[in-house]
Amino acid sequence: MKSFYVHNFGCRAAQADGAALETLLALRGLDAAPVRDAADLVVLNTCTVTAAADDDVRKTARRVNRENPGASILITGCYAQRDPEALADLPGVRWVVGNSHKTQIPDIIAEHAAAAGALTPYHGNIHVGDIFAQHEFLSAPVEDSSGDRTRPNLKIQDGCNNRCTFCVIPSVRGRSRSAPLHEVVEQVRQLAAKYREVVLSGINLGRWGRDNGISMRLHDLVRTLLTETSVARLRLSSVEPMDFSNELLELMASEPRIAPHWHAPLQSGSDSVLKRMKRRYRVRHYEDRMQRAYALLPEAAFGADVMVGFPGETDAEFEETRAFIERMPYTYLHVFTYSERPGTPAQDLADHVPMPVRKQRNAVLRELGAAKNMEFRRGLDGKRLSVVTLENERFGLSGNYVKVELHKPYPANEIHEVEIGGVTETGLAESRACAAKDSAFVVL
Ligand code: SF4
Repeated sequence: MKSFYVHNFGCRAAQADGAALETLLALRGLDAAPVRDAADLVVLNTCTVTAAADDDVRKTARRVNRENPGASILITGCYAQRDPEALADLPGVRWVVGNSHKTQIPDIIAEHAAAAGALTPYHGNIHVGDIFAQHEFLSAPVEDSSGDRTRPNLKIQDGCNNRCTFCVIPSVRGRSRSAPLHEVVEQVRQLAAKYREVVLSGINLGRWGRDNGISMRLHDLVRTLLTETSVARLRLSSVEPMDFSNELLELMASEPRIAPHWHAPLQSGSDSVLKRMKRRYRVRHYEDRMQRAYALLPEAAFGADVMVGFPGETDAEFEETRAFIERMPYTYLHVFTYSERPGTPAQDLADHVPMPVRKQRNAVLRELGAAKNMEFRRGLDGKRLSVVTLENERFGLSGNYVKVELHKPYPANEIHEVEIGGVTETGLAESRACAAKDSAFVVL
């Protein structure tokens, strides 16, 4: 029997691509293998955002070939688009398919399976070209997100028109384009019939609607989805800070079906670094958007991506970033260490920061992020939160993005209102008093 396994790397948009690919392969009659080692075809859906991400892909490909030598490996995603030759020579790799060709993967596989009767192991090098200019969406209902099948992740925008100097994404994903309104509505409608929470994602989500000649913005789309679908909870993944318009923030504050979760990449809290990064805002602009959001949504999750060790980042500039983060109401941080990416303007800048200094700055911010997260969770003790129960039935995820340990198992994919009775190592625990009286739960 022909079977496949998709291994995803990277961001939510990549996870959504991988999940769509799973659906499309299943529609072509292939069976999803429960584990990588049992699959005839292993798809590595890659990320290339850092040198470490590239290493991870190459190591994984070698491991797959070692542990499952009978499998054919197909590598796709951003790394496959950026440097297909670097991947084509890896053992067991049969196809390398860039993002520009990814919609053709089901055809490539189905054609091969029909010709061969089954997928056969491959020992040569084949590189499927990366010339197609037309980027398309992998449009299929997406039913998975980072291993948890209770919060589907729907990619509604791809690509980016910005040119941040450290970033390879515009060159591997092309210009910004949006999924059409009617498709998004239809897909959310389908997902809402099965799931409580749907996560909207994109490479530059806040740009949704700017490329299709209509005068709709992200807040118009969200309002339409709330009106025209029965989705119980809608969550926005990362949005560039200046795309958190007043309209969008006011809608988030007035509509309980939108998860109170604000995530805006900061990258640096120093104007001079932001300028070298060619980010399109300065610290005061970011602060204005965040303070406005905080005033409207004081109990929301507030997150940011932040990069340390950008070329030329001095101790004083790093300190500006640290101090900014310290005084802002963040509830969690994603800290990245700058790594040189071939073909990016930042690679040619002077004064690259020594790696030990980058690592030390990373540790400082991670510690600060952890302390802020703990402070946030302590502040939620005794409050009532609405959670979506996860696949692991002892846990739920709150609207404001904290994992809550429940006192008794519930079926996945329900909404319950729980009272918080303490903090755990990484999340919160439901109060025992509340758990004792089941009537306190609201099941939707
Ligand atoms: S906004 Fe900047 S960092 Fe984000 S994808 Fe676009 S170019 Fe890359």
